[in-house]
Amino acid sequence: MDYEKIFSDAIKAIRDEGRYRVFADITRHRGDFPRATRHDAGDNARSITVWCSNDYLGMGQHPKVLEAMHTALDETGAGAGGTRNIAGTNHYHVLLENELADLHGKEAALLFTSGYISNEATLSTVAKLLPGCVIFSDELNHASMIQGIRNSGAERHIFRHNDLDHLEELLMAADPLAPKLIAFESVYSMDGDIAPIEKICDLADKYGAMTYLDEVHAVGLYGPRGGGVSDRDGLADRLTIIEGTLGKAFGVMGGYIASSKMLVDVVRSYASGFIFTTALSPVLAAGAYASVKHLKGSSAEREKHQERAAQLKKRFKEANLPVMDSESHIVPVFIGDPVLCKEVSDILLNEFGIYVQPINYPTVPKGTERLRFTPGPLHDDNVMDDLVRSLCDIWERLNLVRKAA
Ligand SMILES: *Cc1c(COP(=O)(O)O)cnc(C)c1O
Repeated sequence: MDYEKIFSDAIKAIRDEGRYRVFADITRHRGDFPRATRHDAGDNARSITVWCSNDYLGMGQHPKVLEAMHTALDETGAGAGGTRNIAGTNHYHVLLENELADLHGKEAALLFTSGYISNEATLSTVAKLLPGCVIFSDELNHASMIQGIRNSGAERHIFRHNDLDHLEELLMAADPLAPKLIAFESVYSMDGDIAPIEKICDLADKYGAMTYLDEVHAVGLYGPRGGGVSDRDGLADRLTIIEGTLGKAFGVMGGYIASSKMLVDVVRSYASGFIFTTALSPVLAAGAYASVKHLKGSSAEREKHQERAAQLKKRFKEANLPVMDSESHIVPVFIGDPVLCKEVSDILLNEFGIYVQPINYPTVPKGTERLRFTPGPLHDDNVMDDLVRSLCDIWERLNLVRKAA
């Protein structure tokens, strides 16, 4: 059996579709975000501007976060030293969980090593514990939620994206006595649209369903304390489980859920992805704790973030670039072809020192390939001018469509 050949054919299939992933090798510089150094295949290094980071607010270089991490490192050492159950629970984990529970107005919170794991572990565990559970899942849910739902083995129904009528139709058709769970996101990070959270909660009440909300692209960014869209809209208490990450706007690493004491206890006690893995480094927990605390008390970063996103959308529109409708801070520009999408991204990086990763299938549906810009408080007018000029140049050169998407 020629194993290597089978693998190389699999890679070739991806290459042929123009969606072979190439990582940009970059070094970020503390204090200089969004500037970074790119290392190419040779020995060359070049200064670039990063336009696709999920460190939305630059908290990854915030002095309070770095100080907390330095202190924790010197105080406790590098790693947690064990699973949460076996010697790995550090006081920083406990502080952070209390802070996160408070952020979402919930009784308790539970840390995981990533947002991916928190979705996978929680959804699979909760649905498995409810015999006959039926899950209703938005069609654009993140891969980690889909994986968790699959692993639960529960019956699942996919509703059309943010489509309340379709969701209700599916809820109505299900066994009225079956336990139910509706899984969705607040900010969908590829289109930048926002779910009708309140109306979904109304449907959940009407049909006796639990709700699971992924606020990964909203925590730190929305709401008076950075608790996400559910915080902004005063809806946190209507959601059964809120899930978030510490790796995006909070700038560090890790994931969590916030919910009732009982639900957190059951996930803590049953979820394989929580139990059988080394706890988050206390250094990361300390950094995340400082970040969450800071953004709870400061809205300046959030306001500037929204202002910068609005400014970039405006500039793209004025330049007749096909910026897609987005209700949030995400600024997608439509290309609609994987090969072109990669080509535009390559030219931007190689010729203009602008880094924006092409977004192709399976991250987005085929035919909707795009560039996805994530402007933040540290993207000033100068880098925006430079970006718009460069895009216009490429749009001319490749004869791309110049209308609103
Ligand atoms: C990034 C992402 C996750 C995973 O979070 P990580 O902390 O990066 O593992 C989960 N859900 C959504 C919607 C995401 O975009």
